[in-house]
Amino acid sequence: MELKSSATLPERALHIALKVEGGKCQRGDGAGCAISSNSATTPGDMTERGCTYAGCRGVVGGPVKDAIQLTHGPIGCAFFSWGYRPHLADTDFHMKYTFVSDMNETNIVFGGEKKLLQSIIEASREFPEAKAVFVYNTCSTALIGDDGRDVAKQAEAIIGKSVVFFECEGFKGVSQSAGHHVGNETIFRQLVGSVEPEGDFSRTINIVGDYNIKNDIRTFEHLFEAIGLRIVTRFTGNVGVDDLKIMHKAALNVVHCQRSATYIADMMKEKYGTPYINVTLWGMKHMAQALRDTAAVFGLEAEAEVVIERELAKIKPKIDYFRQRLTGKKVFI
Ligand code: SF4
Repeated sequence: MELKSSATLPERALHIALKVEGGKCQRGDGAGCAISSNSATTPGDMTERGCTYAGCRGVVGGPVKDAIQLTHGPIGCAFFSWGYRPHLADTDFHMKYTFVSDMNETNIVFGGEKKLLQSIIEASREFPEAKAVFVYNTCSTALIGDDGRDVAKQAEAIIGKSVVFFECEGFKGVSQSAGHHVGNETIFRQLVGSVEPEGDFSRTINIVGDYNIKNDIRTFEHLFEAIGLRIVTRFTGNVGVDDLKIMHKAALNVVHCQRSATYIADMMKEKYGTPYINVTLWGMKHMAQALRDTAAVFGLEAEAEVVIERELAKIKPKIDYFRQRLTGKKVFI
């Protein structure tokens, strides 16, 4: 007997495909295999993607290593967003601690602005080494109308550091994707360009849309440096608040995840005239192409070829080892 809890919710029929006899599969509405995606999540049901808050807190803001990451909402939202993405960095402050205003029923009835202000002040006193406080709004605090922007302004005056308020309440968009947009837009508006450093930035780039989830930055940063370029800001993997503030100084944005981060590259192009190129930084062929495309902007083509040749020569024995053993075999990765 099929339990009621096992039955497909009608709203989810287009997102589920079942294996049927003969190895074929059938979607919940009886049609073919292709499941429908990028449509609104169904509350109360498991979905593949997080909410807008998760996209903003978990993907874009969360990797900033020296900011206090404070959720304005119930403890559940904060726990949901904490520790499930290993955006690594050379310090672990952002991974080790999570902060929340811990809204309970009373706060929902009487408002949570005072509690938020108190949370920001307390957290920044407890961790004076933090360079800024990032505050993320959630469904419940948005629904009761807490004015987080105003609280952030008040808090900034009290603690003397940037307090960045992300209007990323969970229900705001179809999925976490809307949160990437909010994250990009808020960081651009509140941090980028707030400091004007001196120096020569003619041969500099930003790596945009890499989140250093498994230390991936380590695999490619030195290659850009080897062709003569300096990386100003990583948006946002292994990055500090001060780096974000001077992001506008770089001569080129090299955009890796185009889905989550083209927003900021577009805004920088419009406001500062910073050009950008789209690249893929994973895999040898793509990486070599990324180096060539980047080098072409700076007239460093010859330097790029030297680096590509040297790196490919280093890795060739390892590839040969596997090629010998795997030729003619099917490999599942
Ligand atoms: S912000 Fe809203 S949708 Fe996201 S975890 Fe919190 S309650 Fe759930």
